[in-house]
Amino acid sequence: MSRQLFVTTALPYANGKFHIGHIMEYIQADIWVRFQRMMGNSVDFCCADDTHGAPIMIAAEKAGVTPQAFVADIAAGRKPYLDGFHISFDNWHSTDAPENHELAQAIYRDLRDNPDGSLIEKRTIEQFFDPQKSMFLPDRFIKGECPKCHAKDQYGDNCEVCGAVYAPTDLINPYSALSGAKPELRQSEHFFFKLSDPRCVSFLSEWTQDGKLQPEVANKIKEWFSERSNPDGSTSNGLGDWDISRDAPYFGIEIPDAPGKYFYVWLDAPIGYLASLKNLLSRRGVNFDAYMANPALEQYHFIGKDIVTFHTLFWPATLHFSGRKTPSNVFVHGFLTVNNGEKMSKSRGTGLDPLKYLKLGMNPEWLRYYLAAKLSARNEDIDFNAEDFMARVNSDLIGKFVNIASRAAGFLSKRFAGQIGVVSEDGAALLHQLRGERAQIEQLYESREFAKALRETMLLADRVNAYVDANKPWELAKQAGMEARLQDVCSVCIKAFRILTCYLKPVLPELALQVERFLNIEPLNFVNIMQPLAAGHVIGNYQHLMQRVDVKQLDALFEAPDSAATSAGTGQTPTSNPAPGGEAIAATIGIEDFAKIDLRIAKVVACEAVQGSTKLLRLSLDVGELDDAGQPRLRQVFSGIASMYQPEDLVGKLTVVVANLAPRTMKFGVSEGMVLAASHADEKKNPGIYVLEPFAGAVPGLRIH
Ligand SMILES: [Zn+2]
Repeated sequence: MSRQLFVTTALPYANGKFHIGHIMEYIQADIWVRFQRMMGNSVDFCCADDTHGAPIMIAAEKAGVTPQAFVADIAAGRKPYLDGFHISFDNWHSTDAPENHELAQAIYRDLRDNPDGSLIEKRTIEQFFDPQKSMFLPDRFIKGECPKCHAKDQYGDNCEVCGAVYAPTDLINPYSALSGAKPELRQSEHFFFKLSDPRCVSFLSEWTQDGKLQPEVANKIKEWFSERSNPDGSTSNGLGDWDISRDAPYFGIEIPDAPGKYFYVWLDAPIGYLASLKNLLSRRGVNFDAYMANPALEQYHFIGKDIVTFHTLFWPATLHFSGRKTPSNVFVHGFLTVNNGEKMSKSRGTGLDPLKYLKLGMNPEWLRYYLAAKLSARNEDIDFNAEDFMARVNSDLIGKFVNIASRAAGFLSKRFAGQIGVVSEDGAALLHQLRGERAQIEQLYESREFAKALRETMLLADRVNAYVDANKPWELAKQAGMEARLQDVCSVCIKAFRILTCYLKPVLPELALQVERFLNIEPLNFVNIMQPLAAGHVIGNYQHLMQRVDVKQLDALFEAPDSAATSAGTGQTPTSNPAPGGEAIAATIGIEDFAKIDLRIAKVVACEAVQGSTKLLRLSLDVGELDDAGQPRLRQVFSGIASMYQPEDLVGKLTVVVANLAPRTMKFGVSEGMVLAASHADEKKNPGIYVLEPFAGAVPGLRIH
């Protein structure tokens, strides 16, 4: 019997372009969705932009546009990625759409008016308020000195230097990151979802532990339920109530009957799944409530491991206690690292920019195949490794699979007018084996064990290649009287290729389409694959199905944007005596001059962008110094390297700093030193600034002699 499925991927926050992590999740979900469709199941595959919240409101203000215009601009850039990687969403919507406003308000009313007692409670809380901007400040927009290690300029919720977690009110000398003003503590009435209510605890402990979730995910959640002791001797469960409101000004959905109050973005974001579906159904003329009321409807969410709490606690509780259907399951995946776990970074060229990948003419199905070959049902990180990528695509996908068709199709076309012949017993036995694996491969796709499904399929491809090597059609073609056997062997290859194409089709939809055209057959699925291609069927001419990965493409993909410009040269003719790096070597100095400059090894313990400057990064450096209390003293240094490095590229790195340079007062604060970096004299024509890094073994405070 065919199933009815509603599948989503996590809603991307509409403050930036897609990165490779988004694309990995979409590919994972898309493979599963395509598999379900090939099983004859009905799937509605939906997503939307997550548009609300303070970060977008603030980014829009900075860009001088309305939040609506800001998110519309982001949404307009989504299509090339989704089409480019063959992601088959049925709908892409927005959490700011009318459907979401209506649904979020309706769900809230149902929670508030729950017949067994309201799940919503009003409480007065104290919060920092920016008197210049006239708004309450989210934790991330309050900064100050860490109460524990006294590092300067730390965020309101945790310290990036010592890792301490605290409340914004614990910060020493707090200031608003928006205006620089000293924030005032003000009272405000907030709305809470009572997650600690015994009804919620009982419902969620069952919902999260009934065996549907991945075991590693369920185990992690179990920890959140454990009891904790309160100072007054009582105990409470680990689930705290959830603050679901924010004060105006806020880009979001208004809370009914509460002027000036908005839903916290995480309340309305997952409701965006339903809003996207509702929008899709209304365009089809299908009633949303009737669709959702179908007890056989299955609802699945693909998400990353960073948003498990929202999807396994808040989201099912929100749905259940508002009288709605809860998800059938939540599928959690790990993160994608690139090239041996190096942190992704655009500027250093170690990241994998999905749009650049497409612009270089790299086949999107190479990436789909490669990711599928690494994905399992477990919540674990996977690594994109350039060499591994090339080996798997060129050796497995093309060497083992695509070549089967190229080895057989030519003979059929040239010698037999493309006609499939009658196959003899040995070939029939091979094809029987291939079909016999269908149930196993279906099961692996169903359970999201894509790597295993591909491994099984490639083992089958090995058997087909062994059959080709044993029968040597290229030799049969030279022998007189072997015509029938040649047609037999080549027909077996083409029939086998058709079955393997079906098994790979969820991963390689575009390649499968080409194969279907070339074989002159109906779209392949897991049902019609059991009917063999009849003798006498005529296939088309073989056309090259897939290029190999060229190492030059990978080099270009991982080349930093700036080095591309540099290696291409400036177009200037080199002079006979070129000035290295664009400037002549400076006048000679004595060793005593050099000794005046105190160069020290420094460790970057924190780094951040400087608001209002596109050039500068603010670094907190450990130069091995201690303060009067014996605590590490950190220096603040501004460095004009923001064009080359993301702050996270630098944290934890060692570098060299001029330690005895007189402090300079800059627009953004005092700079206590200078980080050494190399650049060309003409930075406009030869962009690129390269921070110095010592060999392994150096520690902060060592002097450069
Ligand atoms: Zn700290």
